[in-house]
Amino acid sequence: MKTWLPHSQNRPKLLIVDDLPTNIRVLHELFREDCDVFMATSGEQAISVCQAQLPDLILLDVVMEGMDGHEVCRRLKLDPATQAIPIIFITAQQQESDEVLGLELGAVDFISKPINPTIVRARVRTHLTLKLQNDLLRSMALMDGLTGVANRRKFDEDILADWRQCFREQKPLSLILVDVDYFKRYNDRYGHLAGDGCLKTVAQALSETVRRPYDLVARYGGEEFACVLPNTGLSGAVEIAEKMQERVRALGIEHSGSDLDRVVTISLGVATLTPTRDLEFQALIEAADKQLYEAKNTGRARVCSSAMSSG
Ligand code: GH3
Ligand code: MG
Ligand code: MG
Repeated sequence: MKTWLPHSQNRPKLLIVDDLPTNIRVLHELFREDCDVFMATSGEQAISVCQAQLPDLILLDVVMEGMDGHEVCRRLKLDPATQAIPIIFITAQQQESDEVLGLELGAVDFISKPINPTIVRARVRTHLTLKLQNDLLRSMALMDGLTGVANRRKFDEDILADWRQCFREQKPLSLILVDVDYFKRYNDRYGHLAGDGCLKTVAQALSETVRRPYDLVARYGGEEFACVLPNTGLSGAVEIAEKMQERVRALGIEHSGSDLDRVVTISLGVATLTPTRDLEFQALIEAADKQLYEAKNTGRARVCSSAMSSG
């Protein structure tokens, strides 16, 4: 069986849910070569596998002991983390009303038992293709076209989500705002295209400085970047900011118009807050912006930071 899915770098993840292991086996046999197949034999198990694996597609049996397929679907559609995962119902029931109910619950398709391998494969292929294309579009919509790092929209989404998460866990959230020094002069001297190249190189260097999976480097606008660091206190954030500062300087991008080092440098403002009920995430942006302003006003090419009380 040759691979029949488009341009995906990773194998798609398929979750098969059925309370009869024999049914799972048949489907597993059909897809194991092309997909990473996960299996669940109950509704409860299906939900926990979903949350842990975030599959690209679910083949979901309707009639099961305990939590049935419709209820599984309802719950997955309520959870923002799992609601975009397409679901195909598989059932022996032949009534149109069942199909209608399934589609109303948000399923993308409906396949009847007994399984016809050609039909199942064709439908799975269609919906996996759509899902992967959707993922690709979404990742492009959240990426900055020039530098390849996250864009402002992604930053706005992430900082809000991270703020809420840190509020729930009462953990500190840090933000670094980065601005390239004398960048207008850089463009004036070397041209706008060279300016673009410089921004790409700087963005790359910034993203190589952060390590944790939840850290984010984004283009905030123009020649400004932002770095969001969940569960990170001020000293950790300052350490990262200083690394960024050194790393960009070490790139050695000539900038003869700069009053500083004759190479491209950046100024950074760092702030940390543990969210409270009375604070909005904008307070964190304002605090980091204030520190960036401080860095600019006290000579550029430096990191400024402040601890703020969260009371
Ligand atoms: P400062 O040290 O105070 O930050 O000075 P600056 O010149 O860097 O700041 P200013 O805000 O005056 O100028 C920012 C410049 O960044 C002006 C703008 O043309 C340039 N810029 C913004 N976005 C881009 C871009 O996508 N490509 C290029 N090449 N330049 C950009
Ligand atoms: Mg600026
Ligand atoms: Mg600037």
